[in-house]
Amino acid sequence: MALLPVPEALETILNRSHPIETEIISIHDALGRVLADDVRSQLTQPPFAASAMDGYAVRFDDIGGPLTLIGESQAGKSFDGSLSNGEALRIFTGAPVPVGADTVIMQENTSFEGNQVTINECRAKGINIRKIGEDFKKDDILLKKGVKITARHIAVIAAGNVEKICVYRKPKVAILSTGDELLDVGSEISPDKIVNSNVPLFMALIKENGGIPVNLGTARDTLDDVKAKILKVKDVDIFVSIGGVSVGDYDIIKDVLKDAGLKVDFWKVAMKPGKPIVYGDFKGIHYFGMPGNPSSAYICFVNFMLPAMNKMQGLGEYGYPISHAILDHDIKEGSGRMNFMRAIYTENQDGIKTVSANFSQSSALLKTMSDANCLLIRDVKAPPAKAGELVKIVLI
Ligand code: AMP
Ligand code: MG
Repeated sequence: MALLPVPEALETILNRSHPIETEIISIHDALGRVLADDVRSQLTQPPFAASAMDGYAVRFDDIGGPLTLIGESQAGKSFDGSLSNGEALRIFTGAPVPVGADTVIMQENTSFEGNQVTINECRAKGINIRKIGEDFKKDDILLKKGVKITARHIAVIAAGNVEKICVYRKPKVAILSTGDELLDVGSEISPDKIVNSNVPLFMALIKENGGIPVNLGTARDTLDDVKAKILKVKDVDIFVSIGGVSVGDYDIIKDVLKDAGLKVDFWKVAMKPGKPIVYGDFKGIHYFGMPGNPSSAYICFVNFMLPAMNKMQGLGEYGYPISHAILDHDIKEGSGRMNFMRAIYTENQDGIKTVSANFSQSSALLKTMSDANCLLIRDVKAPPAKAGELVKIVLI
Protein backbone atom coordinates (compact mmCIF):
# COMPACT_ATOMS: atom_id res chain seq x y z
CA MET A 1 0.00 0.00 0.00
CA ALA A 2 1.40 3.44 -0.95
CA LEU A 3 2.02 5.93 1.82
CA LEU A 4 -0.90 8.32 2.23
CA PRO A 5 0.01 12.03 2.32
CA VAL A 6 -0.57 13.65 5.73
CA PRO A 7 -3.20 16.16 4.48
CA GLU A 8 -5.27 13.35 2.93
CA ALA A 9 -5.05 11.28 6.10
CA LEU A 10 -6.23 14.27 8.11
CA GLU A 11 -9.06 14.95 5.68
CA THR A 12 -10.27 11.36 6.00
CA ILE A 13 -10.31 11.68 9.78
CA LEU A 14 -12.02 15.08 9.82
CA ASN A 15 -14.68 13.94 7.35
CA ARG A 16 -15.59 11.20 9.79
CA SER A 17 -15.43 13.32 12.96
CA HIS A 18 -18.52 15.26 14.01
CA PRO A 19 -19.55 17.19 17.10
CA ILE A 20 -20.90 14.79 19.71
CA GLU A 21 -23.93 15.22 21.99
CA THR A 22 -24.37 18.18 24.24
CA GLU A 23 -25.06 18.42 27.96
CA ILE A 24 -26.07 21.08 30.45
CA ILE A 25 -23.52 21.83 33.14
CA SER A 26 -22.94 24.33 35.93
CA ILE A 27 -20.56 27.18 35.16
CA HIS A 28 -18.47 25.93 38.07
CA ASP A 29 -17.61 22.86 35.97
CA ALA A 30 -17.23 24.78 32.72
CA LEU A 31 -13.49 25.42 32.54
CA GLY A 32 -12.07 24.03 29.28
CA ARG A 33 -15.46 22.94 27.93
CA VAL A 34 -16.74 24.03 24.51
CA LEU A 35 -20.02 25.91 24.22
CA ALA A 36 -22.68 24.17 22.14
CA ASP A 37 -24.91 27.25 22.19
CA ASP A 38 -24.51 31.01 22.38
CA VAL A 39 -24.69 32.29 25.96
CA ARG A 40 -27.08 35.24 26.37
CA SER A 41 -27.16 37.48 29.39
CA GLN A 42 -30.12 37.20 31.77
CA LEU A 43 -29.66 40.78 32.90
CA THR A 44 -28.35 44.22 32.05
CA GLN A 45 -24.94 45.04 33.51
CA PRO A 46 -24.57 47.28 35.37
CA PRO A 47 -28.24 46.96 36.26
CA PHE A 48 -28.33 50.57 37.57
CA ALA A 49 -26.16 53.67 37.15
CA ALA A 50 -23.36 53.04 39.62
CA SER A 51 -20.60 55.13 41.09
CA ALA A 52 -17.10 54.27 39.85
CA MET A 53 -15.46 56.06 42.80
CA ASP A 54 -15.67 56.73 46.48
CA GLY A 55 -16.77 60.39 46.68
CA TYR A 56 -19.88 62.52 46.28
CA ALA A 57 -22.81 62.37 43.87
CA VAL A 58 -23.75 65.89 42.74
CA ARG A 59 -25.49 67.90 40.02
CA PHE A 60 -22.84 69.25 37.71
CA ASP A 61 -24.50 72.67 37.42
CA ASP A 62 -24.31 73.09 41.23
CA ILE A 63 -20.65 72.60 41.84
CA GLY A 64 -19.59 76.27 42.16
CA GLY A 65 -20.58 76.63 45.83
CA PRO A 66 -20.71 74.41 48.93
CA LEU A 67 -23.26 71.60 48.78
CA THR A 68 -25.32 70.19 51.60
CA LEU A 69 -24.77 66.53 52.42
CA ILE A 70 -28.11 64.70 52.54
CA GLY A 71 -27.12 61.09 53.18
CA GLU A 72 -25.21 58.22 51.64
CA SER A 73 -25.44 55.48 49.03
CA GLN A 74 -23.49 52.34 49.78
CA ALA A 75 -22.78 49.39 47.46
CA GLY A 76 -25.73 47.10 48.02
CA LYS A 77 -27.70 49.74 49.96
CA SER A 78 -29.03 52.58 47.86
CA PHE A 79 -30.11 56.02 49.06
CA ASP A 80 -33.84 56.22 49.47
CA GLY A 81 -34.58 59.57 47.82
CA SER A 82 -33.35 61.95 45.18
CA LEU A 83 -30.92 64.82 44.91
CA SER A 84 -32.12 68.41 44.60
CA ASN A 85 -30.37 71.69 43.86
CA GLY A 86 -27.46 72.48 46.17
CA GLU A 87 -27.22 68.96 47.55
CA ALA A 88 -24.56 66.24 47.57
CA LEU A 89 -24.74 62.57 48.50
CA ARG A 90 -21.87 60.59 50.01
CA ILE A 91 -21.38 57.66 47.64
CA PHE A 92 -19.10 54.63 47.40
CA THR A 93 -17.78 52.54 44.51
CA GLY A 94 -20.51 50.30 43.11
CA ALA A 95 -23.34 52.15 44.87
CA PRO A 96 -26.41 53.31 42.91
CA VAL A 97 -26.30 56.97 41.82
CA PRO A 98 -29.48 58.67 43.08
CA VAL A 99 -32.06 60.26 40.85
CA GLY A 100 -31.15 63.90 40.31
CA ALA A 101 -27.38 63.40 40.43
CA ASP A 102 -25.47 63.44 37.15
CA THR A 103 -21.81 63.41 38.24
CA VAL A 104 -19.65 61.77 40.88
CA ILE A 105 -16.69 63.66 42.29
CA MET A 106 -13.90 61.55 43.72
CA GLN A 107 -13.35 62.28 47.35
CA GLU A 108 -9.72 63.36 46.79
CA ASN A 109 -11.11 66.37 44.84
CA THR A 110 -13.40 67.63 47.60
CA SER A 111 -13.21 69.27 50.98
CA PHE A 112 -15.66 68.73 53.72
CA GLU A 113 -16.74 70.89 56.66
CA GLY A 114 -19.75 70.44 58.94
CA ASN A 115 -22.23 68.94 56.53
CA GLN A 116 -21.01 71.04 53.58
CA VAL A 117 -19.01 69.61 50.70
CA THR A 118 -16.97 71.80 48.36
CA ILE A 119 -15.91 70.51 44.98
CA ASN A 120 -12.35 71.56 44.19
CA GLU A 121 -12.02 69.94 40.80
CA CYS A 122 -14.36 68.41 38.22
CA ARG A 123 -13.21 67.54 34.74
CA ALA A 124 -16.61 67.16 33.08
CA LYS A 125 -20.28 66.50 33.58
CA GLY A 126 -21.14 62.82 33.97
CA ILE A 127 -17.75 61.55 35.10
CA ASN A 128 -17.27 58.56 37.42
CA ILE A 129 -20.67 57.07 36.67
CA ARG A 130 -20.99 53.62 35.18
CA LYS A 131 -24.00 53.80 32.90
CA ILE A 132 -26.79 51.23 32.95
CA GLY A 133 -25.92 48.48 30.46
CA GLU A 134 -22.47 49.91 29.76
CA ASP A 135 -21.00 46.39 29.99
CA PHE A 136 -23.82 44.42 28.31
CA LYS A 137 -27.59 44.30 28.11
CA LYS A 138 -30.17 41.62 28.84
CA ASP A 139 -30.28 39.06 25.97
CA ASP A 140 -26.93 40.22 24.56
CA ILE A 141 -24.71 37.36 23.37
CA LEU A 142 -21.92 37.12 25.91
CA LEU A 143 -20.13 34.17 24.29
CA LYS A 144 -20.60 32.42 20.99
CA LYS A 145 -21.08 28.73 20.33
CA GLY A 146 -17.73 26.98 19.75
CA VAL A 147 -15.79 28.98 22.36
CA LYS A 148 -13.54 26.97 24.68
CA ILE A 149 -14.27 28.34 28.12
CA THR A 150 -11.56 30.07 30.11
CA ALA A 151 -11.65 31.59 33.61
CA ARG A 152 -12.38 35.03 32.12
CA HIS A 153 -15.32 33.60 30.19
CA ILE A 154 -16.72 32.09 33.38
CA ALA A 155 -16.66 35.55 34.98
CA VAL A 156 -18.76 37.15 32.25
CA ILE A 157 -21.23 34.25 32.22
CA ALA A 158 -21.65 34.55 35.99
CA ALA A 159 -22.09 38.34 35.79
CA GLY A 160 -24.87 37.74 33.26
CA ASN A 161 -26.55 35.54 35.93
CA VAL A 162 -26.37 32.44 33.75
CA GLU A 163 -25.82 29.47 36.00
CA LYS A 164 -26.09 26.56 33.56
CA ILE A 165 -24.68 26.33 30.07
CA CYS A 166 -24.89 23.91 27.18
CA VAL A 167 -21.57 22.32 26.17
CA TYR A 168 -20.41 19.38 24.10
CA ARG A 169 -19.96 16.15 26.02
CA LYS A 170 -16.37 15.17 26.72
CA PRO A 171 -15.22 12.48 24.28
CA LYS A 172 -14.39 9.17 25.96
CA VAL A 173 -11.22 7.53 24.75
CA ALA A 174 -10.19 3.92 25.45
CA ILE A 175 -6.42 3.32 25.48
CA LEU A 176 -4.85 -0.09 25.03
CA SER A 177 -1.11 -0.56 24.98
CA THR A 178 0.47 -3.68 23.56
CA GLY A 179 3.83 -5.29 24.19
CA ASP A 180 5.40 -8.07 26.24
CA GLU A 181 8.19 -5.67 27.21
CA LEU A 182 5.96 -3.21 29.05
CA LEU A 183 5.69 -2.76 32.81
CA ASP A 184 3.57 -0.21 34.58
CA VAL A 185 5.39 2.70 36.16
CA GLY A 186 6.59 1.88 39.67
CA SER A 187 6.97 -1.87 38.96
CA GLU A 188 10.04 -3.87 39.79
CA ILE A 189 12.08 -3.70 36.56
CA SER A 190 13.62 -6.81 34.97
CA PRO A 191 16.41 -6.66 32.38
CA ASP A 192 14.36 -7.11 29.19
CA LYS A 193 11.48 -4.82 30.15
CA ILE A 194 10.79 -1.11 29.85
CA VAL A 195 8.35 1.17 31.61
CA ASN A 196 5.11 1.92 29.80
CA SER A 197 5.34 5.66 29.16
CA ASN A 198 2.80 5.95 26.35
CA VAL A 199 -0.23 5.16 28.46
CA PRO A 200 0.55 7.94 30.97
CA LEU A 201 1.32 10.19 27.96
CA PHE A 202 -2.02 9.48 26.30
CA MET A 203 -4.02 9.66 29.53
CA ALA A 204 -2.58 13.15 30.04
CA LEU A 205 -3.01 14.24 26.40
CA ILE A 206 -6.63 13.15 26.42
CA LYS A 207 -7.37 14.98 29.67
CA GLU A 208 -5.45 18.06 28.55
CA ASN A 209 -7.57 18.23 25.44
CA GLY A 210 -10.99 17.81 27.00
CA GLY A 211 -11.45 14.03 26.84
CA ILE A 212 -12.01 11.29 29.38
CA PRO A 213 -9.37 8.54 29.16
CA VAL A 214 -10.28 4.95 29.90
CA ASN A 215 -7.20 2.79 30.43
CA LEU A 216 -7.75 -0.77 29.20
CA GLY A 217 -4.29 -1.86 30.36
CA THR A 218 -1.60 -3.64 28.39
CA ALA A 219 -2.13 -6.59 26.07
CA ARG A 220 0.64 -9.15 25.76
CA ASP A 221 1.73 -9.80 22.18
CA THR A 222 -0.46 -12.88 21.80
CA LEU A 223 -3.61 -13.30 19.74
CA ASP A 224 -5.53 -14.50 22.78
CA ASP A 225 -4.59 -11.59 24.99
CA VAL A 226 -5.21 -8.95 22.32
CA LYS A 227 -8.58 -10.57 21.51
CA ALA A 228 -9.53 -10.59 25.18
CA LYS A 229 -8.50 -6.99 25.73
CA ILE A 230 -10.37 -5.56 22.75
CA LEU A 231 -13.62 -6.99 24.13
CA LYS A 232 -13.38 -4.17 26.66
CA VAL A 233 -13.69 -1.49 23.97
CA LYS A 234 -17.24 -0.30 24.63
CA ASP A 235 -19.12 2.93 25.24
CA VAL A 236 -16.33 5.15 24.00
CA ASP A 237 -15.99 7.62 21.12
CA ILE A 238 -12.38 6.81 20.28
CA PHE A 239 -10.26 3.71 20.72
CA VAL A 240 -6.50 4.19 20.58
CA SER A 241 -4.08 1.31 20.68
CA ILE A 242 -0.36 1.83 21.10
CA GLY A 243 2.29 -0.38 19.55
CA GLY A 244 2.11 -3.39 17.29
CA VAL A 245 1.02 -1.66 14.05
CA SER A 246 4.24 -2.07 12.10
CA VAL A 247 5.41 -5.13 10.16
CA GLY A 248 7.07 -7.20 12.90
CA ASP A 249 5.97 -10.76 13.69
CA TYR A 250 4.34 -9.55 16.90
CA ASP A 251 2.54 -6.58 15.31
CA ILE A 252 -0.82 -8.29 15.41
CA ILE A 253 -3.34 -5.79 16.65
CA LYS A 254 -4.56 -4.62 13.25
CA ASP A 255 -5.37 -8.13 12.10
CA VAL A 256 -7.05 -9.08 15.35
CA LEU A 257 -9.16 -5.95 15.16
CA LYS A 258 -10.04 -6.60 11.51
CA ASP A 259 -11.35 -10.02 12.47
CA ALA A 260 -13.43 -8.30 15.14
CA GLY A 261 -14.96 -5.79 12.72
CA LEU A 262 -12.39 -3.04 12.13
CA LYS A 263 -12.73 -1.32 8.76
CA VAL A 264 -9.38 0.24 7.94
CA ASP A 265 -9.44 3.65 6.24
CA PHE A 266 -5.68 3.84 5.97
CA TRP A 267 -2.50 2.24 7.19
CA LYS A 268 0.85 4.00 6.72
CA VAL A 269 1.15 7.72 6.17
CA ALA A 270 3.96 9.63 4.46
CA MET A 271 5.25 11.09 7.68
CA LYS A 272 8.27 10.84 9.90
CA PRO A 273 7.99 9.72 12.59
CA GLY A 274 4.65 7.91 12.76
CA LYS A 275 4.55 6.15 9.40
CA PRO A 276 2.74 2.94 10.48
CA ILE A 277 -0.33 4.67 11.94
CA VAL A 278 -3.66 2.94 11.30
CA TYR A 279 -7.02 4.69 11.22
CA GLY A 280 -10.42 3.13 10.79
CA ASP A 281 -13.85 2.44 12.12
CA PHE A 282 -14.22 -0.15 14.84
CA LYS A 283 -17.92 -0.81 15.33
CA GLY A 284 -18.79 2.89 15.06
CA ILE A 285 -15.81 3.95 17.18
CA HIS A 286 -12.90 5.92 15.72
CA TYR A 287 -9.86 3.70 15.83
CA PHE A 288 -6.29 5.05 15.93
CA GLY A 289 -3.51 2.46 15.92
CA MET A 290 -0.45 4.37 17.05
CA PRO A 291 3.10 3.12 16.61
CA GLY A 292 4.79 2.31 19.93
CA ASN A 293 7.80 4.61 19.81
CA PRO A 294 6.82 7.46 22.12
CA SER A 295 7.67 10.31 19.75
CA SER A 296 5.89 8.57 16.86
CA ALA A 297 2.79 8.06 18.97
CA TYR A 298 2.90 11.66 20.19
CA ILE A 299 3.31 13.15 16.73
CA CYS A 300 0.45 11.00 15.43
CA PHE A 301 -1.65 12.35 18.28
CA VAL A 302 -0.80 15.96 17.40
CA ASN A 303 -1.53 15.49 13.71
CA PHE A 304 -4.56 13.20 13.76
CA MET A 305 -6.15 12.39 17.07
CA LEU A 306 -6.15 15.93 18.45
CA PRO A 307 -7.99 17.33 15.40
CA ALA A 308 -10.57 14.54 15.71
CA MET A 309 -11.07 15.23 19.44
CA ASN A 310 -11.33 18.97 18.83
CA LYS A 311 -13.87 18.59 16.05
CA MET A 312 -15.92 16.18 18.16
CA GLN A 313 -16.02 18.81 20.90
CA GLY A 314 -17.29 21.47 18.50
CA LEU A 315 -14.10 23.50 18.31
CA GLY A 316 -13.36 25.50 15.15
CA GLU A 317 -9.58 25.16 15.56
CA TYR A 318 -8.48 21.58 15.11
CA GLY A 319 -4.79 21.61 15.95
CA TYR A 320 -2.11 23.33 17.97
CA PRO A 321 -1.19 26.81 16.73
CA ILE A 322 1.24 27.18 13.84
CA SER A 323 3.97 29.79 13.95
CA HIS A 324 7.22 30.60 12.18
CA ALA A 325 10.78 30.81 13.40
CA ILE A 326 14.26 31.43 12.06
CA LEU A 327 16.36 28.30 11.70
CA ASP A 328 19.61 28.38 13.60
CA HIS A 329 21.27 25.58 11.58
CA ASP A 330 21.16 24.03 8.11
CA ILE A 331 18.77 21.15 7.36
CA LYS A 332 18.93 18.79 4.43
CA GLU A 333 16.14 18.42 1.89
CA GLY A 334 12.79 16.73 2.62
CA SER A 335 12.87 12.95 2.92
CA GLY A 336 9.80 12.09 0.84
CA ARG A 337 7.77 11.98 4.05
CA MET A 338 6.50 14.98 5.95
CA ASN A 339 8.92 15.36 8.81
CA PHE A 340 7.92 16.59 12.26
CA MET A 341 11.16 17.31 14.06
CA ARG A 342 11.14 17.83 17.78
CA ALA A 343 12.59 21.29 18.20
CA ILE A 344 13.19 24.08 20.67
CA TYR A 345 12.47 27.71 19.93
CA THR A 346 13.53 30.74 21.90
CA GLU A 347 12.11 34.21 21.54
CA ASN A 348 14.15 37.41 21.76
CA GLN A 349 13.02 40.71 23.29
CA ASP A 350 11.38 41.73 20.01
CA GLY A 351 9.36 38.51 19.86
CA ILE A 352 11.49 37.03 17.05
CA LYS A 353 11.64 33.26 17.36
CA THR A 354 14.73 31.19 16.57
CA VAL A 355 14.40 27.42 16.34
CA SER A 356 16.82 24.51 16.64
CA ALA A 357 16.25 20.83 15.90
CA ASN A 358 19.95 20.08 15.91
CA PHE A 359 19.77 16.91 17.98
CA SER A 360 18.89 13.25 17.46
CA GLN A 361 15.43 12.79 16.00
CA SER A 362 15.17 9.11 16.89
CA SER A 363 11.54 8.35 17.55
CA ALA A 364 12.45 6.19 20.54
CA LEU A 365 13.79 9.15 22.53
CA LEU A 366 11.65 10.53 25.32
CA LYS A 367 13.92 13.22 26.76
CA THR A 368 14.08 15.25 23.55
CA MET A 369 10.31 14.93 23.18
CA SER A 370 9.93 16.20 26.72
CA ASP A 371 12.38 19.08 26.21
CA ALA A 372 10.87 20.20 22.88
CA ASN A 373 8.49 23.15 22.85
CA CYS A 374 7.60 22.91 19.16
CA LEU A 375 7.69 20.65 16.12
CA LEU A 376 9.54 21.89 13.09
CA ILE A 377 7.60 20.89 9.98
CA ARG A 378 9.50 19.85 6.88
CA ASP A 379 7.44 19.23 3.78
CA VAL A 380 7.73 16.05 1.75
CA LYS A 381 9.79 17.72 -0.96
CA ALA A 382 11.27 20.64 1.00
CA PRO A 383 14.54 21.88 -0.53
CA PRO A 384 17.55 22.06 1.81
CA ALA A 385 17.11 24.86 4.34
CA LYS A 386 19.90 27.19 5.47
CA ALA A 387 20.44 28.77 8.87
CA GLY A 388 18.61 32.11 8.86
CA GLU A 389 15.62 30.87 6.82
CA LEU A 390 12.09 31.15 8.12
CA VAL A 391 10.49 27.76 8.84
CA LYS A 392 7.08 26.58 9.99
CA ILE A 393 6.66 25.27 13.54
CA VAL A 394 3.77 23.84 15.57
CA LEU A 395 3.58 25.21 19.11
CA ILE A 396 3.00 22.11 21.21
P1 AMP B 1 5.99 -1.35 18.38
O1 AMP B 1 5.28 -0.24 17.71
O2 AMP B 1 5.11 -2.22 19.20
O3 AMP B 1 6.83 -2.09 17.41
O4 AMP B 1 6.97 -0.66 19.40
C1 AMP B 1 7.98 0.21 18.94
C2 AMP B 1 8.86 0.62 20.09
O5 AMP B 1 8.09 1.36 21.02
C3 AMP B 1 9.45 -0.54 20.86
O6 AMP B 1 10.77 -0.20 21.24
C4 AMP B 1 8.56 -0.66 22.06
O7 AMP B 1 9.21 -1.21 23.17
C5 AMP B 1 8.18 0.79 22.32
N1 AMP B 1 6.88 0.89 22.97
C6 AMP B 1 5.74 0.29 22.58
N2 AMP B 1 4.73 0.59 23.39
C7 AMP B 1 5.25 1.42 24.34
C8 AMP B 1 4.70 2.05 25.47
N3 AMP B 1 3.41 1.90 25.77
N4 AMP B 1 5.52 2.82 26.21
C9 AMP B 1 6.80 2.98 25.86
N5 AMP B 1 7.38 2.40 24.82
C10 AMP B 1 6.63 1.61 24.05
MG1 MG C 1 5.24 -3.96 20.18
